[in-house]
Amino acid sequence: MNLLEKFPNIKILKDEPLSKYTYTKTGGKADYLVFPKDRFQVESIVNFVKDQQLALTVLGNASNLIVKDGGIRGVVIMMTEMKSMRRIDSNTLEAESGASLIKLTHLALDHSLTGLEFACGIPGSIGGAVYMNAGAYGGEVKDVIDEVDVISRDGLIKTFKNPDCHFSYRHSIFQEQNDLILSVRFKLQAGDAALIKEEMDHLTHLRQSKQPLEYPSCGSVFKRPEGYYTGKLIQDAGLQGHRIGGAEVSKKHAGFIVNVDNATATDYTDLIAFIQATIWKKNQVRLETEVRIIGEDVD
Ligand code: FAD
Repeated sequence: MNLLEKFPNIKILKDEPLSKYTYTKTGGKADYLVFPKDRFQVESIVNFVKDQQLALTVLGNASNLIVKDGGIRGVVIMMTEMKSMRRIDSNTLEAESGASLIKLTHLALDHSLTGLEFACGIPGSIGGAVYMNAGAYGGEVKDVIDEVDVISRDGLIKTFKNPDCHFSYRHSIFQEQNDLILSVRFKLQAGDAALIKEEMDHLTHLRQSKQPLEYPSCGSVFKRPEGYYTGKLIQDAGLQGHRIGGAEVSKKHAGFIVNVDNATATDYTDLIAFIQATIWKKNQVRLETEVRIIGEDVD
């Protein structure tokens, strides 16, 4: 494989440490880290990867990821250079997959469009938000999605209407199909800019007061188990402040694991396993991770 010679016009980094990009500041190296600028560049890379039978991983803004310390073999596409967004008709915004969800909420405010306020503090990309069906404060991305354009691993471009995405709590069909999300159209409602701003300011204040935003983290580590609050389970088990290596159960929000002292991905995964085992023993509740854990262990 000589990816750099084959694609001289695409930004490609070899043996690149992913800890430079993940929100936890942990993780090993990608063999090749590729930053396509548009869907044609994505298409070229996907077709090359298919022909060469290489492994392919896609990242958005890496805010919901733990990349293991052994890194990721093959080609890793990071979408963050595909970040254009615009209004395409009175109530519809379109964004490329690497665009920031937070910036999209600002564009919605600029056009007095309501529906995206809940997302004003979620630090993901558009693609990552759709893949995860990200949500907060009673809203979910699924509530405002019209259509999603993807490219399959075979190089086919397809469009999914909202019902075809099979959204549910922190889940979309893309978690099973492995398509790469290219762009997304959002249907919003005409609103009052002052009220939209007031709601966004209120939610930002709530987030700042409750979440340990001063440390690197990947947000809520676990999904909410039916009938329980994850943070309360972890808090009641006395795990707040518990540390493995440089990873610590946040003292401010028990659902977060923060990198307080040069944590490794192994510190994170060991602490996750410890929390799961403790809560199972104490409450017989299985905590399933919301954060995606990918890559290889160190040999
Ligand atoms: P990544 O972390 O890069 O990837 C997540 C998954 O999506 C991976 O499996 C990846 O392969 C896949 N993916 C990413 N882009 C694409 C694409 N273009 N095509 C196909 N697959 C793709 N989440 C919430 O839901 N609500 C919150 O309130 C919230 N608060 C957070 C607060 C903090 C401080 C942090 C650090 C995280 C928070 N998160 C929250 C988690 C995270 O921001 C969201 O899950 C976000 O949607 C992830 O987007 P991303 O672009 O960072 O995805």
